[in-house]
Amino acid sequence: MEIQLERILGVPEAVQSVYKDFRNLSKSRSIVGEVALPELRKDPITGRWVIISTERGKRPNDFLRESVVITPNGKNCPFCAGNEAKTPPEILVYGRNGGGANTPGWHIRVVPNKFPALGIEGDLDREGEGLFDKMNGIGAHEVIIETPEHVASLATLPERAVEDVLWAYRDRMLDLKNDRRFRYVLIFKNHGEAAGASVEHPHSQLIALPIVPRRVREEVDSCWHYYDEKERCIFCDIIRQERDTGERVINENDHFITVAPYAPRFPFEMWLLPKVHGSSYENNQSSMYASLARMLKDTLMRLDAVLDRPAFNFMIHTSPVGEEINDHYHWHFEIIPKLTKVAGFEWGTGFYINPTPPEESARFLREAKIVPPDLAAKK
Ligand SMILES: [Zn+2]
Ligand SMILES: [Zn+2]
Ligand SMILES: [Zn+2]
Repeated sequence: MEIQLERILGVPEAVQSVYKDFRNLSKSRSIVGEVALPELRKDPITGRWVIISTERGKRPNDFLRESVVITPNGKNCPFCAGNEAKTPPEILVYGRNGGGANTPGWHIRVVPNKFPALGIEGDLDREGEGLFDKMNGIGAHEVIIETPEHVASLATLPERAVEDVLWAYRDRMLDLKNDRRFRYVLIFKNHGEAAGASVEHPHSQLIALPIVPRRVREEVDSCWHYYDEKERCIFCDIIRQERDTGERVINENDHFITVAPYAPRFPFEMWLLPKVHGSSYENNQSSMYASLARMLKDTLMRLDAVLDRPAFNFMIHTSPVGEEINDHYHWHFEIIPKLTKVAGFEWGTGFYINPTPPEESARFLREAKIVPPDLAAKK
């Protein structure tokens, strides 16, 4: 495998000094044997630098972690079938034929979060407090209960059920975009306690916000600058290049591709993207959701196989409200297993140290032996 070293020329001073520290560290070690320098890599979209340890890339077995094991808990779980009264009244339901609202018989339920981060009622008041800005905590916070089954996951559910979850995301996004107070709708998932899940029953969350989150704004703006200069979408360019070299491609089907990004913040980080340019999740052609379900399930099964069912987060990045159709931003999933901790260095610099080169993580994930869903659930 050929890995290109970043050149130190043109690197900001603060970055250089960190780089030197690492280089000195490596130098002292290099007396003992041949040592590869760590690499500084820059993410072409956010401009964020990461440090990739190449000397001894950590392999899946090196990550001490607990598998996410879900045990049956139908009695107390507010998301299990039969416990519908334990959640706020449902906003959307799939699969129930007859029977009243908030009764069993459903496949998917969407309910307001019982402990919302933001409140849905009220007007959006923006205010200044001297030089500080504030506004009312207006927003929607919903839970997408992905299945009535307590012991399941998007990796083990049938493709058809995963597809329904993806449709539910779309339905809720479209509905909330009608609310003129909202500028962004974020779909995300916390899987496993280590990744922030407080209920183990399979679910994802949605938060509608009165502002475009900074991380999204930065991505969109930077994609716009690239487009302005080259008249091409940077994500489309990345996909083209990754398919040419293949070394960071994890899997692909007719419509979607999963890659390990060139400069990932975290070991085994993955991006799942549509292969043909699409600027917003909810505007995919309807035929694409089945394909996306297949890809998402396949990707999560690989993650489970390689890292023995780790805790993870994923989020959907899509164009902000009112900017849905454009040529510069390319919607995608970011999937991040919870294997390392963010510590002082990361907080202090905005850099990340990643102990596993993406070429290696991609190889492990690409070559993963995927266990049939029923066996994986039993294990
Ligand atoms: Zn449950
Ligand atoms: Zn694109
Ligand atoms: Zn993104």
